[in-house]
Amino acid sequence: MAVLDRLDTLAPIREKVEAGERLDFEDGLALMETDDLLELGELADLARRVRGGNDEVYFIQNFYLNQTNVCRVKCKFCAFAMTQKEADAYTLTADELVDDAVQQYERVGFTEIHIVNGENPHVDFDFYVETTRRLHEALPDVHLKLYTASEIHHMTKLSGLTHEQVLRELQAAGLGSLPGGGAEIFADRVRQLIAPGKEHPDYWFHTHDTAHRLGIPTHCTMLYGHVETYEERVDHLLRLREQQDKTGGFLAFIPLAFHPENTVFERRGWRFTTGADDLKVIAVSRLLLDNIPNIKAYWIMMGMPLAAVALHFGANDVQGTVVREQIFHAAGATTETEQKVEELVRFVRAAGRLPVQRDTLYNEVRRWD
Ligand code: SF4
Repeated sequence: MAVLDRLDTLAPIREKVEAGERLDFEDGLALMETDDLLELGELADLARRVRGGNDEVYFIQNFYLNQTNVCRVKCKFCAFAMTQKEADAYTLTADELVDDAVQQYERVGFTEIHIVNGENPHVDFDFYVETTRRLHEALPDVHLKLYTASEIHHMTKLSGLTHEQVLRELQAAGLGSLPGGGAEIFADRVRQLIAPGKEHPDYWFHTHDTAHRLGIPTHCTMLYGHVETYEERVDHLLRLREQQDKTGGFLAFIPLAFHPENTVFERRGWRFTTGADDLKVIAVSRLLLDNIPNIKAYWIMMGMPLAAVALHFGANDVQGTVVREQIFHAAGATTETEQKVEELVRFVRAAGRLPVQRDTLYNEVRRWD
């Protein structure tokens, strides 16, 4: 029966992949619905290679910072955000943040700083511009990958400026690229259920579209494993593909598995995604996103062993050293918060692939042939 299923549903898709043809919505749904996980992984790896991929697997030496966990939005899946009055709420000044970053740079070294925050209503736009400028002055050789599209939208509300004006000011202060958060799932039905206070997805696309046109590359994500259907996953991926066709500025796609701990969903008995679902999402993303060159197996989220398997399911990037992760760990992630370069090299080699350290823009920094 399994063979018949494979012949009926995946064989026509394989023909399309081999011919370099674009997959459509129905193909995406068939891929999500298949139980033939190994076939799916092999197909995704084939797609990666047909499109020019080789044995190289990328990682970056990066450093995560969260300047404030105060947030006005209250997404139901979030275990990170606090109100200003809660005991664990914090907001670092630009001075405190820069001092921390410089100390860590001297300790471990990195080529990228990655910052995402809560949407703090108690700061002004200068808080962000000043932080960006100060970081850039203190660490001019470090790429600044700062602020999700949701935060950029928040800054338009704080300042009265347009998205383009906000991005231009940040770019002038030293912003290099945007992370991909805030996308969640684009379907209105899902957004109303998990993040009713978050802006409409049209703003997410407008921000990334504007950034790309200003020469600011960005990343894109999908938060899966909560209330979304397979149809809504496929719709999400195809909307990203459509945007990439228009502006071409997405450097990488990062699927993010929902972590229920310390959220309202934990109290309803929700569990972590299965490894099979994580691999399925990696593979289908690779197959559908034929114009986004890099798919990340985010080890923070899936752990190193599963990330190694994901490298054979279409992924070609394992993110980076990270050093300090708070958002997924607030929601129950039990993975490490830091990986050393030599650990990442050993891990990629053990998966049978060639480790390549990259910078944010995927220029090669070092390789281990
Ligand atoms: S996901 Fe982001 S916007 Fe939503 S509550 Fe958490 S910090 Fe705020």
